[in-house]
Amino acid sequence: MTLPPDLDIARSVTPKPVRDIAAGMGLDADLLRPYGDDVAKIDLAAIDRLADRPKAKYVVVTAITPTPLGEGKTTTAVGLGQAMAHIGKQATLSLRQPSMGPTFGIKGGAAGGGYSQVIPMELLNLHLTGDFHAVTAAHNLLAAMVDNHLHHGNELDLAIDDITWRRVLDVNDRALRNIVVGLGGKIDGVPRQTGFDITAASEVMALLALTTSAADLRERLGRIVVGYTRSGEPVTADQLQAAGSMAVILRDALSPNLLQTLEHTPVIVHTGPFGNIATGNSSVIGDLIGIRTGEYLITEAGFGADMGAERFFNIKCRTSGLVPDAAVVVATIRALKAHSGNYRIVAGKPLPDDLFAERPDDVEAGAANLRKQIENVQAHGITPVVAINAFPTDHPSEHEVVRRIAESMGVRAEVCTNVVDGGAGAKALAGAVVEACDEPSEFRFLYDTADSLKTKIEKVATRIYGAERVEYTGPASRQIASYEANGFGDLPVCIAKTHLSISGDPSLKGAPTGHTLQVREVRASVGAGFVYPICGTMSTMPGLSKQPAATRIGFDDDGRIVGLS
Ligand code: ADP
Ligand code: MG
Repeated sequence: MTLPPDLDIARSVTPKPVRDIAAGMGLDADLLRPYGDDVAKIDLAAIDRLADRPKAKYVVVTAITPTPLGEGKTTTAVGLGQAMAHIGKQATLSLRQPSMGPTFGIKGGAAGGGYSQVIPMELLNLHLTGDFHAVTAAHNLLAAMVDNHLHHGNELDLAIDDITWRRVLDVNDRALRNIVVGLGGKIDGVPRQTGFDITAASEVMALLALTTSAADLRERLGRIVVGYTRSGEPVTADQLQAAGSMAVILRDALSPNLLQTLEHTPVIVHTGPFGNIATGNSSVIGDLIGIRTGEYLITEAGFGADMGAERFFNIKCRTSGLVPDAAVVVATIRALKAHSGNYRIVAGKPLPDDLFAERPDDVEAGAANLRKQIENVQAHGITPVVAINAFPTDHPSEHEVVRRIAESMGVRAEVCTNVVDGGAGAKALAGAVVEACDEPSEFRFLYDTADSLKTKIEKVATRIYGAERVEYTGPASRQIASYEANGFGDLPVCIAKTHLSISGDPSLKGAPTGHTLQVREVRASVGAGFVYPICGTMSTMPGLSKQPAATRIGFDDDGRIVGLS
């Protein structure tokens, strides 16, 4: 059976008025800032107002290591949220806002899929309530103030080649990766090389996702380091007197957005930090509100469990103080086969092309990755549940392999068909998640923030990535020493590495061991509150393909958007 396009399915359901969705969550109408009938922002006063309500069980949806074939974390999270109502439980979802860069690039939309989507889908994928634009504006105001400071005499003695604050834009535009500003005459600023990152990679986005209140936002903005003086001292947004204005620009963006699924499950949508150089998780504020709005709060962490979930546990939960109860590890048969090492994916197509033939042995071979990602969840004391996100090309014998592997590890596993069947297709998963949440959880962080930066990096590398050792090349060791000298040594680490392997090498599939993690540079997001060691090359400004989604998106004769999925 072929499903109608996502956009057609999304439009086939009329959203319930957002105030009704909010009422179901116990949110009083005066806490809503409506943007039309279907979307509202939730006032931060909700955190205090709901403080006496019981806390929901807290579930994070993560996955095996992604392949270009797509695993379906968002889709499964949405399906799980929908399914809770089918087994008599009340759930709220908490998700990231999609970046418009990928919407017009390769992805074409990121609201789930089939009958497990967030609606209104067009709004979610395009602007929503403008939060990303606010992040862009706040970020670029600070950039303007840096260049203005240079123009007016550089009183703080910023080293012109040690300015780390770049500009951002929510468009995939490779031509802006490296630019020269200040060209022209004396009145046009000081010429220097800089560049643009995608808005999702902005430290302001990372910071907004980790902040806990308006006052905390203002403080974090002030701590942003824009660069270093010629003697190596950090220069902050507060020293440039920029943080107050940045906070004002972000006033509305600080409030999460409320939407719903196709089955009217409440969905809190807030922030969209990059998954490589930032946490890849939705906001702390969204979860601080959502945790008091139902029996289950379900959130998604980007990429595989070695990346998004590790940061969820060690950075996001550390900041929010919330304790997770269970984790869903999403796996697909096609991705497990790809992890066997017997296939290559070229331009989204598997080679050889018999990936979809019945091959339980390849699933078995690729399942080493699933095992390791399950262990990565267990390393934090959290009970994992495996969700087998079913595709029409799967074979029952292949599902059996995954079930058997999970069972051998004492882990529940259920097949989900929610893309085709909506919430009804994830009832078994919902039942397993409820059981997992009822088991005692012994949540623990992987490292203490008081550990040295190198110890923290080494704990993640050896325990989560399966590395034998960490090697610091180029300026990495010197940068670590200088961050520790500058008082940033107590921050957690957000290791920027490829998402395509548990190791630092994208070509290593499955669950590699014995490898060396190469840290070639270390940067700090002091405002957001983490240090990020960089392993391999990390692009923070994507480009567009030859035929990007932007060539297909437009209006039909009735003025309706086409081409979004
Ligand atoms: P992730 O959150 O892991 O990046 P998504 O849930 O966004 O993945 O899914 C990626 C793409 O794959 C989406 O376009 C989604 O519609 C599609 N997809 C996911 N699961 C299925 C499935 N079971 N059948 C068909 N398409 C699916
Ligand atoms: Mg997703």
